[in-house]
Amino acid sequence: MTPYPSKFDVIIIGGGLAGLSSAIHLSKQDYKVLVIEKNEYPKHKVCGEYISNEVLPYLDYLGIDVFKLGAKKINRFELSTPKGRLIKAKLPLGGFGISRYTLDFELAKKAKIDGVEILQASAEKIHFEDDLFLVTTKNNQEFISKIVIGAYGKRAALDVALDRNFIKNKSPFLAVKMHVKGSFSEDLVALHNFKGGYCGVSKVEDDSINLCYITNFESFKAYKDIDEFQEKVLFKNTHLKTIFENSKTVFNTPLTISQVSFSRKNPVENHIIMCGDTAGMIHPLCGNGMSMAIRSAQMASRVIIDYLQGKIESRELLEKKYSKTWNAEFKNRLKMGHVVANLFSRNTFSEILIIGLKWFPSLLPIIIKHTHGKLMEIQ
Ligand SMILES: Cc1cc2nc3c(=O)[nH]c(=O)nc-3n(C[C@H](O)[C@H](O)[C@H](O)COP(=O)(O)OP(=O)(O)OC[C@H]3O[C@@H](n4cnc5c(N)ncnc54)[C@H](O)[C@@H]3O)c2cc1C
Repeated sequence: MTPYPSKFDVIIIGGGLAGLSSAIHLSKQDYKVLVIEKNEYPKHKVCGEYISNEVLPYLDYLGIDVFKLGAKKINRFELSTPKGRLIKAKLPLGGFGISRYTLDFELAKKAKIDGVEILQASAEKIHFEDDLFLVTTKNNQEFISKIVIGAYGKRAALDVALDRNFIKNKSPFLAVKMHVKGSFSEDLVALHNFKGGYCGVSKVEDDSINLCYITNFESFKAYKDIDEFQEKVLFKNTHLKTIFENSKTVFNTPLTISQVSFSRKNPVENHIIMCGDTAGMIHPLCGNGMSMAIRSAQMASRVIIDYLQGKIESRELLEKKYSKTWNAEFKNRLKMGHVVANLFSRNTFSEILIIGLKWFPSLLPIIIKHTHGKLMEIQ
C-alpha cells in the first residue's frame, strides 16, 4: 500500500484509443491525468485496422497526422458471401488503414509529450467514497482522483470486480488476426464472409495486409487448429483462398482473442465514465469500433471539463449528461450493427441479400451510413 497516494484530476484505466485520446484532450486543459495501461507500447492488437475518416478532424486536434505515419487512404469497399458472390461500393465517407501497433504507440507518445503520466500496471480495484476515487493496481500502488474513465476495452477482470451485468454471460465469439505480405489494393477494404464468420482485409502503413476474422466457437471447435479451420472453412470463399494462399505471413503466430462480447453495457457504472468498448461494442462487420472509441473519448472529455470547471454543477448531472449524449450518438448505430451482423450470420439469407444489393446498389452506401457517424467536430 502507498502511504500517501498520488492525486490526479483524472485517472484513465486502459491506454488504447479511447483512453489515450481522452488523456490528450484533458491534458490540453492542463488537467493532471494518469493513464494506467497494463501492456507496454508498441503492441499488436486483434483489430481490422480500418478506421472511418470521421475521426480525422479530431485526430488532427489531438496532434496526430495518420498520413504522415503512412496510413493508407481507403475509399472502396467489397463484400462477399460465403459462396464468393461479390458486390462493390464506394465508401460514402471513406477511411484509412493503420496498424494499432503504430496508432496506439503514437497516441501514447503524444500523451506523454503533453504531460500525461502513463503507468504500466494493471488496475485491479476502483473504490468510490466521499466524492473521490481510490484506484489500486495489482502491485498495490494506490492513486486518488476526482474522475475515473474506464477505457479498458471489451472485457476485463475489472468488469467482474465492478459486478457489471454483461460479464455474467459467456460470449461465443473468438477472433484471429495476422499481417501478411502480398498483393492487395491499398484503397480497398474487403469483408469476406465464410460459414460462421467474416474476415476483414485491408492494408496498413508498412504495406502489410491485415487479415482479421471473427467466428463463433461452435464453428471453430470441430477443427484441430487455425490452419485447418482456415483451409476447410475460410477457403470455401474463393476470395479468401486467393488472398491467404498468395501471401506470406509476417507474424510468427497469429494473434487470437476469445470471449468477444456485443452485449449491452452502460456508459456510466459505479460513477465511472465508460469509454470505447468498455461502454459498448459494435460488430466489427460494421468496421467502426475505433472511431466510436475515439468519439466517445471526445464526448467524455467535454463533459468532464465542464464538470471540473463548474459548468456542470454535480456529479449526478455529469453522469446523466454523458449517458444521454452517449445514447443519442451510439444507440442506433449499435442496433443497426446487430441487425446487419444477424442478417449475415444466416448464410442463405446473406446470399439473397447480396443478390438484392446487386439489383439495388444504392442501398449499400445507405446501410454503411447508418453504422457510421458524421465527421467529428474539432474539440
Ligand atoms: C476482430 C475484431 C476486428 C475489429 N476490426 C475493426 C475495424 O476494422 N475497424 C474498427 O474501427 N474497429 C474494429 N474493431 C473494434 C476495435 O478494435 C475496438 O472498438 C477498439 O479497439 C476500441 O478501443 P478501446 O480504446 O475502447 O479499447 P482497446 O483498444 O481494447 O484498449 C483497452 C486497453 O485497456 C488495457 N487494459 C485492460 N484491462 C486493463 C487493466 N485492468 N488495467 C490497465 N489496463 C487495462 C488493454 O491492455 C488495452 O490496451 C474490431 C474488433 C474486433 C474484435
